[in-house]
Amino acid sequence: MIQIDGSCGEGGGQILRTAIALSLATLTPFTITRIRGNRKQPGLMRQHLAAVLAAARVGRADAPEAALGMTSLTFRPETVRSGRYHFNVGSAGSATLVLQAVLPPLLTADGDSELVLEGGTHNPFAPPFDFLDQTFLPLIRQMGPDVTAALVRPGFYPAGGGRFQVSVRPCRHLAPIDLRHRGAIRRIRARVAVARLPRHIALREIAVLRQDLSLQEEQLDIEEIGNSAGPGNIVTVTVESDALVEVFSGFGRRGVPAEDVAAKVISEVREYLAADVPVGRRLADQLLVPLALAGGGRFRTLPPSRHTLTNAHVIRQFLNVEIRMEDQGDGSWEVAISRRAGSPDAPAPA
Ligand code: AMP
Repeated sequence: MIQIDGSCGEGGGQILRTAIALSLATLTPFTITRIRGNRKQPGLMRQHLAAVLAAARVGRADAPEAALGMTSLTFRPETVRSGRYHFNVGSAGSATLVLQAVLPPLLTADGDSELVLEGGTHNPFAPPFDFLDQTFLPLIRQMGPDVTAALVRPGFYPAGGGRFQVSVRPCRHLAPIDLRHRGAIRRIRARVAVARLPRHIALREIAVLRQDLSLQEEQLDIEEIGNSAGPGNIVTVTVESDALVEVFSGFGRRGVPAEDVAAKVISEVREYLAADVPVGRRLADQLLVPLALAGGGRFRTLPPSRHTLTNAHVIRQFLNVEIRMEDQGDGSWEVAISRRAGSPDAPAPA
């Protein structure tokens, strides 16, 4: 039984989700204590409880202690069942993060899956749907499985009520990918979406994006969302390069000027462009699980975040992989994942 300390390193929900995903993928039970021990309000919030319950269905698992606020739990999966699932967070908690917990084992399951996820789709501190759709899933497709997502209705914090569908056509083995070179920047686009909020918010954000990123009219887009349950505002900047599409995002919040929301996204975009790396900070932590399951892969990124370092630590407890992170001396870091010598699928020594 693997023992996970949920307060180690970054100490948030990702430790739990990665443990769940890898427990399912390897059919290894685990116990986690001090869940989200570094957060102001530790324990299972709705989003984390939804992830545990979703994973329990996919893995026919026993997780008797799973309840709101619980700070420890044992998870014992029996098998991984592909199929049709409907997971509802039941609040504005991020549904894309629920997917983070259940998608990895379904990528190599024995059949197709059709998932419907409900909750938040555009949340601060979580991958917005656009990142899932344009950044993460295209890379997963490069690894073999055919996974697509469709947004039915956006859900913003605090009203939630979002919904999206995910189709998974698995493959037998995930293939490693190499993302060391970004190549040329092909296109940059900025998009502002407002739901049930005045249009001037979007206009002010667009003005800052246009000026600070020197964008032309055809690179800018405003969307007024009519079908969300509550108000919301998201700024996204999409950077398409030869290697991939990176999506940077920021959310409007009461009390924060629209110009500041745009400026924060712009500073992330600038940092990414200047570093000449393909993989941004958020993507880096999220690529580790699929690459570790593939048993290999490399990428160049910005200095690793605490999410990345902590995720690597959790992964090493489940899988016999080596995850090396090396400072390249030019502001970029190279992350290399490989099977440890002696692990069942490691190549035989020459
Ligand atoms: P945690 O804070 O432990 O719940 O984990 C949050 C997860 O959401 C991490 O995998 C982050 O990389 C991811 N995340 C947070 N903000 C963004 C963002 N703006 N775009 C993409 N992913 C994000």
